[in-house]
Amino acid sequence: MQQFFNSKSVLNQSVQIEIAQAKEISLVIKREDVLHPEVSGNKFRKLKYNLIAAKEQRADTLLTFGGAFSNHIAATAAAGKEFGFNTIGIIRGDELTDKVAENPTLSFAQQCGMQFKFISRQQYRKKMNPDFLAQLKNEFGNFYMLPEGGTNDLAIKGCEEILTEEDENFDCICVAVGTGGTIAGLINSAKKHQKVLGFPALKGDFLRNEISLLASNKNWQLMTNYHFGGYGKINDKLITFINQFKEETNILLDPIYTGKMLFGILDLINKGYFKRGNKILAVHTGGLQGILGINKKLQQKGLPIIIE
Ligand SMILES: *Cc1c(COP(=O)(O)O)cnc(C)c1O
Repeated sequence: MQQFFNSKSVLNQSVQIEIAQAKEISLVIKREDVLHPEVSGNKFRKLKYNLIAAKEQRADTLLTFGGAFSNHIAATAAAGKEFGFNTIGIIRGDELTDKVAENPTLSFAQQCGMQFKFISRQQYRKKMNPDFLAQLKNEFGNFYMLPEGGTNDLAIKGCEEILTEEDENFDCICVAVGTGGTIAGLINSAKKHQKVLGFPALKGDFLRNEISLLASNKNWQLMTNYHFGGYGKINDKLITFINQFKEETNILLDPIYTGKMLFGILDLINKGYFKRGNKILAVHTGGLQGILGINKKLQQKGLPIIIE
């Protein structure tokens, strides 16, 4: 298993965007999205040491939590299939019980062998209560638990491997932020002269505290103006940007995380936030599996969709 994870390498791809070129700023995308076709991007990094630990503990089942379009649910299901674990997904929203077939993320996970338990949003908020976890043990037997979004100490350790020696000449590392595990890994492994910029995909100030608890350095900052109204919120401007970025660079972005981050980076370049000559590395954390389901929703509302 270690070998499987260690054998994957990632390409840094330079992109030519007019706004950046005009200010002599070099923008390079780290293509974590192409690490693996199904266990994409940062979810691959976050699972690595957890799966190794699960095997060492002789666990045969992984249990985790997520929403209807969760990249973490899809990645856990695919990794379980690849390495011979049973997988159980505790899914937010009991209205989804009979809608698996209509939901590309959940149908994919099911095809990988994931078994679901749907719970109400209210119950989901209390998912880490000892009573509920005891109930899950009763229902499913022993399991190795991955938290929502996959963030724990072993996940952060995996994300510390995103940056390599050849990345040392960048001035700034940019990444989208959900639970903060990925940025914590980047902060830990970035060099002193580098700054890590996080682009939260959700509203709220709590992330700053969470990240300072998870990360060991202070060379980072959150850019909180690019969540587009909150987690999973999408508008025409964002979709247009994603389609335009694809046309100009041939790189597809997802609308939940990486699309918002790149929108933010280019906006900051435009506003003169970065110095002339700065080298920016933007981590493409993947998440492309979600596009199918999100396009379906956009289509139902008669809105423009993401062109793959
Ligand atoms: C999960 C995810 C993130 C957020 O990662 P965290 O470690 O939870 O902050 C960012 N980008 C993509 C594509 C993701 O799937």
